[in-house]
Amino acid sequence: MKVVLENLTKIFPSRNKKSNEEVVAVNNFSFTIPDGKLIGLLGPSGCGKSTTLYMISGLQKPSGGKIYFGDDDVTEVSTENRGVGLVFQNYALYPHMTVKQNILFPLQNLKGADKLSKEEMLSRAYEAAKLVQLEELMERKPSELSGGQQQRVAIARALVKMPRVLLLDEPLSNLDARLRLQTREEIRRIQRETKITTVFVTHDQEEAMSISDMIVVMKLGVVQQIGAPQEVYDNPVNLFVAKFLGTPPINVFNGHVKGEKLYIGEDAVLEVKNVPDQEVIVGIRPEGFYLAEDGALSCELSSIEVMGRDVSIVSKNAACTAPVIRSIIDADTPINPAAKTVRYNLRKNKVFIFNKETEERIYFEVN
Ligand code: ADP
Ligand code: MG
Repeated sequence: MKVVLENLTKIFPSRNKKSNEEVVAVNNFSFTIPDGKLIGLLGPSGCGKSTTLYMISGLQKPSGGKIYFGDDDVTEVSTENRGVGLVFQNYALYPHMTVKQNILFPLQNLKGADKLSKEEMLSRAYEAAKLVQLEELMERKPSELSGGQQQRVAIARALVKMPRVLLLDEPLSNLDARLRLQTREEIRRIQRETKITTVFVTHDQEEAMSISDMIVVMKLGVVQQIGAPQEVYDNPVNLFVAKFLGTPPINVFNGHVKGEKLYIGEDAVLEVKNVPDQEVIVGIRPEGFYLAEDGALSCELSSIEVMGRDVSIVSKNAACTAPVIRSIIDADTPINPAAKTVRYNLRKNKVFIFNKETEERIYFEVN
């Protein structure tokens, strides 16, 4: 089931009686979510991710725009009749019911033509439980389960009604690090098996990058960029997106362009054909540096951290906007830990420059 968002907008009235400032939680969001794909909706807290998801689910009414499931306009259709499965951060299972009863619950409320026989309900519940690998735990109470297992019950409960669209709002936030990793892989597997079009909301870029077919990066209610995770990482449209994706994060410098050369401080670090003279912001991915004796960018060496296959070099440069630069170098590269300075050359496709005022990307020829 493809999901079409057309100029979707949500405006909340001011909560503050003294000011009339309304909140534009979601601003003119248009996107077609392809059938059967998992979309990661990503951005910092407050950027409008949940509001978008609630509008897709029908829990909130848009102030403007339309939502289609396939060719059906569902903008005015209630949540119950939209055929969506919802999973939230706090999974809110019924504590007095067993796993089985929790999963059965949504089916027992079906009415009229949708009403199922007891056998049908049980068979559906066991099918959903199998998908999330809970068959062995059907008689337990939620309190007898780990956080990850409880979240899997919540997912089974969302799947049991065979939703057309699955909507997950930060479903892993309450889990510890190891379970998060495991459960996110589970979600990916379940999504691949069921091929249900899924929207997965998270503020964690690594989580979104690792499981999504496509990511949507939002800021203050406005979509910044949509694309395959690698594509967005390799080609951010602005400084915000460049900074939001990647660990360690991109290194940011004040720089300038003069005579088609990019300068960081006094160092001419790259040729940037056809870019007019101006002050710019320079972003360099950690893997964009390599050591060279006559390297163009000179930095003060702080420390070297060996991480197995790679080495992380921590260094300093007055033009860097952060206290330190983190670069990732192949462990085979010889480096003198006693040296005071390190010299880098840059990989051109890992360096991005941005307009100083608008922070929009300025493109230059990479070859
Ligand atoms: P996210 O899920 O990305 O953290 P939300 O979608 O929850 O962000 O919120 C987006 C913006 O809308 C925020 O500024 C938030 O304060 C505001 N907002 C959310 N829900 C309401 C509401 N019911 N009334 C007023 N403002 C709201
Ligand atoms: Mg939210």
